[in-house]
Amino acid sequence: MMILAALLMLQTQGADPIADVLSADSEFPLAAEAGAVIAAELNCTGPYIEGAAIICRAEPGTLVTLGDQSGTADNEVWVILGINRDSEEEMTLTAEFSSGGMIRQVQAIEQREYNIQRVDGVPPQTVNPPEEALALIREQSRIKAAAYTSRWDGAGFAGGFIAPAEGIISGVYGSQRYYNGEPRRPHYGLDYANDAGTPVHAPAAGIVTLAHPDMYYEGGLIFIDHGQGFTSAFLHLGAVHVAAGDVVEQGELIGEIGSGGRATGAHLDWRIKWRNRYIDPALVLTLDPASLR
Ligand SMILES: [Zn+2]
Repeated sequence: MMILAALLMLQTQGADPIADVLSADSEFPLAAEAGAVIAAELNCTGPYIEGAAIICRAEPGTLVTLGDQSGTADNEVWVILGINRDSEEEMTLTAEFSSGGMIRQVQAIEQREYNIQRVDGVPPQTVNPPEEALALIREQSRIKAAAYTSRWDGAGFAGGFIAPAEGIISGVYGSQRYYNGEPRRPHYGLDYANDAGTPVHAPAAGIVTLAHPDMYYEGGLIFIDHGQGFTSAFLHLGAVHVAAGDVVEQGELIGEIGSGGRATGAHLDWRIKWRNRYIDPALVLTLDPASLR
């Protein structure tokens, strides 16, 4: 897997934008010395690669746009951007500062190749749910959609992310499975295979927006909004130790690995959704928002 940790910093000076791409562990002289012009800066962490999230800081009110999505820096100065699994090779990144001035640059998006897996011998009722389950599935879809409308005003994402469980990585983001020859939606999770009962911890602080002991597809399911709706989902849990509305800290026990729902064995499937995009959790683990302070 390609994991590229890069830090982009842009700074305006009059009408001539200056853009520098720095490595994540390099010094940060422009920010440190910015002084009077710090208000007209966009500081971002994250790799510009398909499936990545980019976390940026800019003065409140700054409008940041990447491709067809945009976000406005909140009072805590944070903006989150996400890149689709299948993205164009270049996107335009702009920042319109609330105090005036603008920067614009064409940003290359690193392209990825994803695994294709074929799984045969899956029982037909897993591929196509039985008629009598459809009402339940529809109801549970509404529950999930409602939870995804959460927009927590905290900034749990700003503390970075840690792995939610120990285990062997048995599935990765972006892979696509063919069940009995039928193509399915790409797999958007990062799977940790381990024994049932293995603890699952919050990878970052947030508010629990959904906690269900046994969903049809997902089994035990938890959603955590880490801020602004940047939401983790934890699937196939054998036990759920939080309730909707709970505010959790990074590292807090939230549940246990299981094989609930339509799982082929005990594992945690960790997904991250940002607005209508699925983000690769493996890339989120590389984010270093603290470097932007
Ligand atoms: Zn999975």
